[in-house]
Amino acid sequence: MTAQLINGKDIANNLLEELKEEITKRLQAGIRHPALAVILIGDDPASTVYVNNKRKACEKIGIKSLFYDLPASTSQAELESLISDLNNDENVDGILVQSPLPDLLDEDRILELISPNKDVDGFHPINLGLLAMRQPKFRSCTPYGVIKMLKAMNIEVSGKDAVVVGASNHVGRPMAFELLLAGATVTQCHSKTQNIQDKVNNADIVVAAVGRPEMVKGSWIKKGAVVIDIGINRVGDKLIGDVEFTEAVKVASYITPVPGGVGPMTVATLMSNTLDAQKLYL
Ligand code: NAP
Repeated sequence: MTAQLINGKDIANNLLEELKEEITKRLQAGIRHPALAVILIGDDPASTVYVNNKRKACEKIGIKSLFYDLPASTSQAELESLISDLNNDENVDGILVQSPLPDLLDEDRILELISPNKDVDGFHPINLGLLAMRQPKFRSCTPYGVIKMLKAMNIEVSGKDAVVVGASNHVGRPMAFELLLAGATVTQCHSKTQNIQDKVNNADIVVAAVGRPEMVKGSWIKKGAVVIDIGINRVGDKLIGDVEFTEAVKVASYITPVPGGVGPMTVATLMSNTLDAQKLYL
């Protein structure tokens, strides 16, 4: 058996095309371009690549991206003041602060200061809480992107047993809430979990979001399971996922590649969240 590849790039491009069409129609109706403020602090190479991908996607579909490339020496007060200005600017629909922030900045405090109505990354405690309470508003881009991807592939989630390996606030936890919302029975694994292998082996859907190259072995995967690999690990000059792809592809029914799987869906979902943020007011 060889799994069917889930081509996140194609699914994301289809979503971007739909968004472009909708934005074009809204422009013709006299509504301004949606606007996304992207704040990048410092010059972390991976963050710079992610931010550039987001900017390119904005350009492609007619979202105005406002660039805030700030030095690593930016103070907490300066960043808080910028967030406050952007919150109050009615020409800004979405605000994104690229993580990780330099150590001296309080990231939790910054994310809490972003207006929940402009929180297109879906990281604000109010938005995470709404998702947990089955009233989603702005949903974290990567987990929501995974749900959009499963839907595009007509992969049933309701009633399935799902395992999420990883439990971070921005990826693993909201992923578990998304799968619960979609009707799965969810097991969440983290660094203290015992016997992860057995848990993965019982799952119909496995989502890996750990940040450890090929931690989830192909031999752990149940025959016919759906495998979603969120991990992006730089090993030498290669990007490697959290799943041992070469073995997992032999037993899974569907699997995402890295790169070209979840990554493009994250960006496309950010774009759709930004349009949704504009629609709150315009
Ligand atoms: P993170 O904040 O470092 O969280 C890692 C999670 O994995 C934590 O919950 C941690 O458990 C758990 N973990 C660590 N070692 C483990 C082990 N040996 N067994 C089980 N669980 C373990 O990372 P993140 O931000 O969630 O990102 C995870 C991965 O996704 C990274 O590779 C990142 O680059 C990638 N990512 C990709 C996208 C995309 O668009 N494709 C977007 C975001 C992130 P504890 O909670 O117990 O510490």
